[in-house]
Amino acid sequence: MIIRISSLINGLNQWIEEFNAIELGLDADIFQNSIKVGLEAEKRSGKIAVTITPDATGSFICDRCGEEFNENISGSYAIMFIQRESPLPDEMPGDDLRTFAPGQQELDISTEARDALILGIPNKLLCKTDCKGLCLSCGINLNISECKCNENKTKE
Ligand SMILES: [Zn+2]
Ligand SMILES: [Zn+2]
Repeated sequence: MIIRISSLINGLNQWIEEFNAIELGLDADIFQNSIKVGLEAEKRSGKIAVTITPDATGSFICDRCGEEFNENISGSYAIMFIQRESPLPDEMPGDDLRTFAPGQQELDISTEARDALILGIPNKLLCKTDCKGLCLSCGINLNISECKCNENKTKE
């Protein structure tokens, strides 16, 4: 994912681009539909402040019941690009502070766009916050139906 520096006006630029998962290096099984990436670039002399806000629907497997579910995933990533003759020591894609050389045409923000979305994926993947999960005895999905396993146990 590329920002063309020459296409930016001085001051605030805002636009939206759409990508598929492969273009952003993301898992196409999770992100099956297009990913909308909101972009904000504030260009001042010698610096460009970029904010990336991707938004997509992810398809996940519930950690508790094993059912597939969809969830809206969004994220935000801010990077400051500073114009410098030479890059900063140890500069890497994904850093908050990056450089661009005088005369450089493009800013590559693929890593940041991907990371912003990955960071938006919750650690605990649940189809709903009160997912009842599977019965440990019979394996039935307790969100869909009930079983008698617990009842029997309390009787024993
Ligand atoms: Zn679940
Ligand atoms: Zn059961």
